[in-house]
Amino acid sequence: MSYSITLIPGDGIGPEVVEAARRVLEATGVNFSWDRAFAGDRAQDMFGTPLPDYLLNSIRKNQIALKGPITTPIGSGFRSVNVAIRKALDLYVCLRPCKLYPGAPTMYKDVDLVVVRENTEDLYAGIEYRYGTLEAARLNRFIEDCGDSVKPDSSFSIKAISASASEKIAKWAFEYAKANGREKVSAIHKANILKATDGLFLLTCWDVARHYPEITFEPHIVDSICSQLVRNPENHDLLVLPNLYGDIISELCAGIIGGLGLAPGANIGDEVAVFEPTHGSAPKYAGKNKINPMAMMLSGVLMLRHLGEKEAADLVEDAIAAVIAEGKSVTYDMKADRNDPTAVGTAEVAEAVIKKMKERVNA
Ligand code: NAD
Repeated sequence: MSYSITLIPGDGIGPEVVEAARRVLEATGVNFSWDRAFAGDRAQDMFGTPLPDYLLNSIRKNQIALKGPITTPIGSGFRSVNVAIRKALDLYVCLRPCKLYPGAPTMYKDVDLVVVRENTEDLYAGIEYRYGTLEAARLNRFIEDCGDSVKPDSSFSIKAISASASEKIAKWAFEYAKANGREKVSAIHKANILKATDGLFLLTCWDVARHYPEITFEPHIVDSICSQLVRNPENHDLLVLPNLYGDIISELCAGIIGGLGLAPGANIGDEVAVFEPTHGSAPKYAGKNKINPMAMMLSGVLMLRHLGEKEAADLVEDAIAAVIAEGKSVTYDMKADRNDPTAVGTAEVAEAVIKKMKERVNA
């Protein structure tokens, strides 16, 4: 059997890390038929849009995509191509596991966190009105009519959180926890201040939690969880968050486990899933064969697990863990000194991981 996968190289360092991940996935022996499709700068040059219809149609058809990061265009019609893909395909879950592999450049031990971020609403819905526009003036008047006031020279970014989207993400988080042996789900909020939006998110999570008595439910205020995570990340398990907090906390968790080069991700809907790392296109490293491809490879591991290819997923993950533990064939970001001349390049990491995979298969 062969899996048809939409392969999106992306921008900046995207093509390098995607190629490294593709090589590693091919080395598992699982058969893939790659449907290469362009988004971002390359698509803009070829089709005059950073998000061509053929790309979305390819993902819809294959139902699975492996995607490199895409630069957010400045001055195009798209706020963010990444957000537009999630919206177009209703990828309402952003799953970002943050697992510490021994040997990673971090002071922590034994961290295994999962971030489940709501992916469709909150401040990311892109409902914004700039100061000086008719809409901003009307909104300002509406607020006055409601008996409140803001400064007349205000711009607005609307934070909307719905009961339905909160329920969907909370249910998904608890189901994931149940299926993956997670013992605790923490809902992250700022309901003490944002009583309407975060209050609704929190109440909805409480309601969903009642259906999962076997899983501990623990709400945390977003600022408090930041200091708790930095001090004792091992005390936490699965975090479910609205969109913006999810974005910020997943980078914090990536920092805890050793950096963005180790943080994979997946955007998941009921029909379709797009696997991509947490990191962006890091344009200053583009084409330099320097950046760490492990986050992209680990996104491939999530894809293999999603496909039910557990053995192949374990093989790749164990090989990556072995390369990290050995500490020889790793990129600059994995070294204590970032200028360490023994750091290897992106392609060499792929070779090292494939070598470890072969050793394991032949053992
Ligand atoms: P970034 O994640 O691209 O890079 C920030 C820094 O993190 C880099 O300079 C580098 O030092 C480090 N880094 C990132 N990935 C790394 C890796 N694999 N290995 C080692 N170090 C790594 O963030 P940015 O500079 O804020 O964003 C660049 C562009 O990417 C922007 O246009 C942004 O909008 C976009 N972006 C896209 C996605 C996505 O496609 N899902 C996600 C985030 C940012």
